[in-house]
Amino acid sequence: MNALLLTGGRVVDPASRLDESADVLIVAGKIAAVGRDAAAQAPADAERLDVAGLVVCPGLIDLHVHLREPGQSAKETIATGTAAAARGGFTSIVCMPNTSPAIDNAGTVALIREKAQREGVVNVFVAGAITKNIAGEELAPIGSLKQAGVVAITDDGHCVQNNDLMRRALEYAGMFGLPVMDHCQDYSLVTDGVMHEGYWSMALGLRGWPAAGEEMIVARNILLAELTGTRVHCQHLSTAGSAQLLRDAKKRGIPISGEACPHHFVLTDAAVAGGEKFWPADGAGIFGFRPGASDLPAWPSYDTIFKMNPPLRSAKDREAILEAVADGTIEILCSDHAPHCDYEKEVEFDYAPFGITGLETELPLAFMQFYHAKRLGLTDLIAKYTVAPARLLGLAKGTLKPGADADVTVLDPDREWVYEREHSASKSVNSPFYGWPLRGKAVFTIVGGRVVWREQETAVTV
Ligand SMILES: [Zn+2]
Repeated sequence: MNALLLTGGRVVDPASRLDESADVLIVAGKIAAVGRDAAAQAPADAERLDVAGLVVCPGLIDLHVHLREPGQSAKETIATGTAAAARGGFTSIVCMPNTSPAIDNAGTVALIREKAQREGVVNVFVAGAITKNIAGEELAPIGSLKQAGVVAITDDGHCVQNNDLMRRALEYAGMFGLPVMDHCQDYSLVTDGVMHEGYWSMALGLRGWPAAGEEMIVARNILLAELTGTRVHCQHLSTAGSAQLLRDAKKRGIPISGEACPHHFVLTDAAVAGGEKFWPADGAGIFGFRPGASDLPAWPSYDTIFKMNPPLRSAKDREAILEAVADGTIEILCSDHAPHCDYEKEVEFDYAPFGITGLETELPLAFMQFYHAKRLGLTDLIAKYTVAPARLLGLAKGTLKPGADADVTVLDPDREWVYEREHSASKSVNSPFYGWPLRGKAVFTIVGGRVVWREQETAVTV
């Protein structure tokens, strides 16, 4: 029987409000014991990992990842995307259905689950589409998607515009106990906007994507969640108005939730005007752990690496998202890992696809903005990557309780390192964070009792 003993770590399991120095014993892929006496129960041949000085927590879950298979394997594959997840400390990810063909039928779900079983490094859960071909016109077969094993439905990348169709989707999803996730974008307001509508879109002469284009759909989702009783989860929230709508609706007990991504709580739209403009305007404070940093990362204006959907917002919006995550309004953090090939991004700003990779940098960026910036304690921050997404999706994951699957992340909140292209496991390199000094890192990623990634394999520390 294969056994693994993690000794001397600080065990933080938000699901059981546990935060103490303890050993963790894993036997046959399950958590066998957690506590000071766990070592006494370990079989004689158990492998031992000394994790003193490190944090041991339930394997992190990222519920918003684009793996690009099937159909777009030049950008990413299940193999490379899950390798990037392991490197970032994630043991479970949820892949989005805007593939080619879209994940809108049981056959495609089966194909991905089978391929993930064979080639995936971490657990892959599948989100199905709300509408056929993500076209927003006709509902996908929600019952058979559920039967095929999807954990949620979403048209991510697109947004169902027809409110009646969205209502029907919620009614069906409710019958099958499936949460509905939504990429909130009102097409009539956003039209062909490419960056946040505000001072910088005006100064740079780029078409604006107004905050109201997101808030209109967040408000719609709140009304429909109230009407149908089905939970709606608003994806990658980016504006102050969205945060306030969510806060008020949750107070009224409406089944609504939201998530935030690092780019929206680290960067602002000033980044599109270039590094020179960003650092003095909105960049102060990000590297609080390195006083007087003189080697700030630099980039030119109109850099398409800063083009994402929803776009980077104003400093006021970023502050509101930080606050909403800190006060619990936004319960879940994720990456919206969206790989694209270099040649696709190396075009004029208007023509570049939206999105950045994120699996390998979300943990340090979240630690920097919440834990090191003293907005959240360790338990509350880790909850947003473990018990909260597990609860939303009904996954039997996100805890270290004895009997649970032995998905474990061992991390060093204080490790300082620089993210470099050559250390990325993703097939794509469209990240704005290369060359950034970061703080916080996964040291071991353990899936089903097996170490799938260990930090010593790449000498990336500084
Ligand atoms: Zn999206």
